[in-house]
Amino acid sequence: MAAYEYQTHNYDAIVVGAGGSGLRATLGLAEQGLRTACVTKVFPTRSHTVAAQGGIAASLGNMGKDHWQWHLYDTVKGSDWLGDVDAMEYLSRNAPEAVYELEHYGVPFSRTEEGKIYQRPFGGHTTEFGEGPPVQRTCAAADRTGHAMLHTMYGQSLKEGAEFYIEYFAIDLLMSDDGQCRGVVAWCLEDGSIHVFNAKTTVLATGGYGRAYANATSAHTCTGDGGGMVARAGLPLQDMEFVQFHPTGVFGAGCLITEGARGEGGYLTNSEGERFMERYAPTYKDLASRDVVSRCMTMEIREGRGVGKNGDHIHLNLNHLPKEALNERLPGISETAKIFAGVDVTKDPIPVLPTVHYNMGGIPTNYWGEVLNPSKDDPDRVVPGLMAVGEAGCASVHGANRLGSNSLIDLVVFGRAASIKAGEIVDPAAPPAPVNAAQVDKALERFDSLRHAKGGVPTAELRDEMQNVMQNDAAVFRTEETLAKGMERMTEVAGKLGDLHVSDRSMIWNTDLMETLELTNLMPNALATIVSAEARKETRGAHAHEDHPDRDDENWRVHTLARVNGKVELEYRPVHVNPLLGHNEGGIDLDRIKPKTRVY
Ligand SMILES: Cc1cc2nc3c(=O)[nH]c(=O)nc-3n(C[C@H](O)[C@H](O)[C@H](O)COP(=O)(O)OP(=O)(O)OC[C@H]3O[C@@H](n4cnc5c(N)ncnc54)[C@H](O)[C@@H]3O)c2cc1C
Repeated sequence: MAAYEYQTHNYDAIVVGAGGSGLRATLGLAEQGLRTACVTKVFPTRSHTVAAQGGIAASLGNMGKDHWQWHLYDTVKGSDWLGDVDAMEYLSRNAPEAVYELEHYGVPFSRTEEGKIYQRPFGGHTTEFGEGPPVQRTCAAADRTGHAMLHTMYGQSLKEGAEFYIEYFAIDLLMSDDGQCRGVVAWCLEDGSIHVFNAKTTVLATGGYGRAYANATSAHTCTGDGGGMVARAGLPLQDMEFVQFHPTGVFGAGCLITEGARGEGGYLTNSEGERFMERYAPTYKDLASRDVVSRCMTMEIREGRGVGKNGDHIHLNLNHLPKEALNERLPGISETAKIFAGVDVTKDPIPVLPTVHYNMGGIPTNYWGEVLNPSKDDPDRVVPGLMAVGEAGCASVHGANRLGSNSLIDLVVFGRAASIKAGEIVDPAAPPAPVNAAQVDKALERFDSLRHAKGGVPTAELRDEMQNVMQNDAAVFRTEETLAKGMERMTEVAGKLGDLHVSDRSMIWNTDLMETLELTNLMPNALATIVSAEARKETRGAHAHEDHPDRDDENWRVHTLARVNGKVELEYRPVHVNPLLGHNEGGIDLDRIKPKTRVY
C-alpha cells in the first residue's frame, strides 16, 4: 500500500453530514460550548435537505384545532404499527418547540393573515385520532422549506463557532478494540490530504440511500455512506425492507412534485379521467398516506387505466387551482413541471409515477440518537460514542411508512436530542483518547485498494446493475418470486465489488474514486434491503407482498436487523409499544394506539 500521511484533529464531537439533521446536531453541540466539527462531502446548503419542498409537521394549531396526541396517533398509524412508540411520542410532543426554535433562529416561514406560521394539509395527517377531517399541520416556507432551514442553521452554526470541513469524504469509522466509536477517517477532496477526526462522540447524519435505485427523487449524493460505514464496523442496519415510493415523481425525470400540491387541492386521475383515489380511500382520498396512494396508482396502471401512449403513468391535476395560489404556495413545483415535463400547470395535468423517495430503515437508535447494537440479552444495547440522526438513522419514528413532512421534523427534533444527550455524556475537560493506528491503517488499506482497483468492471457499470435489480425486484409490489430472484441477482452483483476497475489514481478531486467509495456504501444498503424484504412474509406499510397480502402482527410486529458482512445475517428486535408518559400523566390512552386495520 502507498504510505498515507494523515493529520489528526481532536474534537469533543464530530458530525458527519451537514443536511438538516447534521446542522441541527452541530448547532446544538456548539451552543453548549463543545468543540464541534462538521465534516461534509458537499457544501452544507447543497445537502439533499435543500430539495425538501412541502414542509415540516408540528401540531401548532395555527389553522384550526390540533394536538400532539393526534400527531402521535397519525404517526403510529402511518408507520403501520412498526414505529417505536416512545420515539414517536418524543417526536410529536417536541415538534412544536423545535419549529418555534427554527422560527427564532430565523427560518422565513410563510405567514397567515395574523402573522402566524402558515400550515398546510399533508397526507395521513388528521384530527380526532383519525376520525376527524384532515388537519393543517405542515409548516411551510412556500415550497422551499428545506432550503430555508439549511441556510438558517448553517449561519447559526457558524455564529456558535462550529468548525466545518467542507468537501471532506468520510471513509470509515474508527472503533476502539472494545467497541467504542472514536471518530472517522476522511479524505479531503480538494487537496487529497487524509484526516483523522478523533472525537469523544461521533454523530452520523449522512442521509438516505435512494441512489441504490435507478429512479429516485433523492440527490446523487444520497448513497447511504453512514449505513456502509456502520455495516463495515460489524453493526446492524434496521428495517431496510421499508423503502418509500412517493406517488408523484415527474414521469421520466423522477424529480419530485411535493405532496403539498395535493395538500393545496391537487388530485390524481386515470385514463378515464376518473379521480380514482375516491374509490380506494373514501375519506382522505388523494391525501391518504403515501404507500397507499402509490399502491393504488400502480394498480390503476396494471389494470390498464394508466395515461399516456403506453398507459404507463398517471395525471396530477392542478389546473383548477387559482393562479395566485399556485404562484404563492407552489412556485417551485410550477417551475419543475415546466422544465422536467414541459407542462404549464395552470393549463395541463402533470404526468407522474411513484418514485423512490425515502428510506424508513437505517442505523438503529434510541430516541436520543444513540446507535444500538442489540444483543440477545439486551435489545437496546448502546454503542458508546456513536450516534445517528436524520434519514441515516432509524429511531424508529416512521416504522413501515413515513408520513409526508415528518422527516424534516425528525431531523430537527432528533438532531437536537442527540446534541442534548452528547452534552450530558461528553466531558470537555477529558483528554482526547489515543488514536487507534491499526484501525486507521485498515481504513486506508481499503481506500488504497479501491484507488488502485484494476478489475474488469467499471464503477458506473456495476452501479447500473445494482440500480436495475433494485428497481425491478424491490419495487412497490413484491412477490416471493421477484424477491427471491432479486436476492440472487443482488448477491451476484455485490460479488463483483472485488472486480472493480478505477481508472483515475489521483488524490485530488478524483470523482471516479469517490463514486467507487459510494458504491461500496450503497451495496450493503441494497443487499440488506432485498434480503430483509425477502424474509418478511407479510404486507406492512411500504412493504406490499402480493403473496402475503395481510399484516401479521403476531409474527411480524418486529424490527428487522441486518448485519452485512459479505453475506447478510438477519435478527429481530421487539418494537417499543409503550409511550413515555402514562395516561394519568397527560400521555396518550394506550387503547388509542392499539393495532387495527389501516384504512384512510
Ligand atoms: C426531493 C425531496 C423532497 C422532500 N421533501 C420533504 C418535505 O417537504 N418534508 C419532509 O419532511 N421531508 C421531505 N423529504 C425528505 C427529507 O428531505 C430528507 O429525508 C432529509 O432532508 C434528509 O436529511 P438528512 O439530514 O438526513 O440528510 P441530507 O440532507 O441528505 O444530508 C446528508 C449529508 O451527509 C453528508 N455526507 C454523506 N455521506 C458523507 C460522507 N461519506 N462524508 C462526508 N459527508 C457525507 C452530505 O454531504 C450531506 O451534508 C424530501 C426528500 C426529497 C428527496
